[in-house]
Amino acid sequence: MSVENRPDRSEKLAFADVVIIGGGLSGLATAYKLAKLGIDFQLLEARERFGGRILTFESARSSACFDLGPSWFWPGQEHIKGLITELGLDRLIYTQYSSGDAVFEAQDSPRASLQRGVSGISMEGSYRLQGGLIALIDALVNQISLLGFGDRLSLCSTAVAVTKLSDKVRVSYSQPHSRGQSIGGGTIESNIICQQLVIASPVRSVLENVKIDPQLDTARQAELETVATWMAGHSKVVVEYKKPFWREAGFSGDVISQIGPMSEIHDASSNSNHSEPQAFALFGFLGIAPAVRKQQAERLRELILAQLVRIFGDQANSPIELVIQDWAAEPLTASKHDQFIADHHPINHWSTTIEPGWSGSLIWSGSETANGHTNGYLEGAVLASNQTFQQLESRLKPT
Ligand SMILES: Cc1cc2nc3c(=O)[nH]c(=O)nc-3n(C[C@H](O)[C@H](O)[C@H](O)COP(=O)(O)OP(=O)(O)OC[C@H]3O[C@@H](n4cnc5c(N)ncnc54)[C@H](O)[C@@H]3O)c2cc1C
Repeated sequence: MSVENRPDRSEKLAFADVVIIGGGLSGLATAYKLAKLGIDFQLLEARERFGGRILTFESARSSACFDLGPSWFWPGQEHIKGLITELGLDRLIYTQYSSGDAVFEAQDSPRASLQRGVSGISMEGSYRLQGGLIALIDALVNQISLLGFGDRLSLCSTAVAVTKLSDKVRVSYSQPHSRGQSIGGGTIESNIICQQLVIASPVRSVLENVKIDPQLDTARQAELETVATWMAGHSKVVVEYKKPFWREAGFSGDVISQIGPMSEIHDASSNSNHSEPQAFALFGFLGIAPAVRKQQAERLRELILAQLVRIFGDQANSPIELVIQDWAAEPLTASKHDQFIADHHPINHWSTTIEPGWSGSLIWSGSETANGHTNGYLEGAVLASNQTFQQLESRLKPT
């Protein structure tokens, strides 16, 4: 369907060839490809922002942007690199800072010790994007708008039920009342009918929050519940400083700690070869289980700074910003099964991403559905979107 003759969708019960649930990297990449081909779609995103696990905060002090979700992709990941290049963002790619000594903070009995200059814990060679990965999300949204499909992207739209009709699918979603209506915090429920449904959201979160009718059979439900959401149980900390005192003292910023509260720390500074002034930061992952860090919320800032002082010295006690993003507390990312810190990257094995019993009209997409070692990563999100698009294209390509 071309942009010119797509249906006017001012009425409440709407139709689209494809409905995509989820406006993270995967859902938006699929929407972008559909828009390029002129296939009509509606994307529903529950949050007030696009990006999902991609989240960047802008420092009020320096205006620099730092990633609170993913930061890296790696050489050889051709799908994410290809998308970045296609969107003209390859000029923003830079490599992770890695000069200087890494540190291992060991829990040696009876007390802790710092081992400087250890090898094997640097993220040397990893790629980052200047301005944070949100640049990729912003570019996708811009391109979709330029292609004439901007109104097909809906924020604050939470899918609550998906129902298989005889030859179509009904997606029910809720939206908050607009401010102008002042009805008092309720939601409005609407329906949209489509030929193809793409679920580009963490599988476990969908199983927990979206009614699927007809219900999945017990074996399929059990299979899908094993699909762990990568990094969902983690909490990421960004600490910004005026000066890179750790670099000046010969440290790379890479730390592995058995003591914590951060179990892993790296340099998060912006790129030095860029026109904007460089901003300096460290980031870390908390090594404390979600339930425990909830109890310690009041003290976390103090514990984080104490650790940084222990490792890098007194200057670490004076950050200009300190932000903690707890992903386990976000039900649109982390389900009740994701309330732990994964100690290794799981490999998800899917029997099929096309839901049996739905006559091919429901496709599970999103990073966790990518097979092999890419699942859960940015590379997996783009790979899953490419595979989903191929399936949709073969069924819906305009003649
Ligand atoms: C702290 C952290 C660090 C990470 N580090 C890296 C890294 O360095 N490198 C890397 O490759 N990967 C990393 N990852 C993983 C990476 O973020 C993901 O692979 C990728 O962002 C997943 O994209 P996605 O679109 O598949 O899913 P998501 O980003 O989870 O997007 C799904 C979207 O669906 C929406 N949604 C959910 N339910 C509904 C509903 N009912 N209705 C409507 N919308 C809904 C959500 O709000 C969300 O926007 C990290 C993740 C985290 C959390």
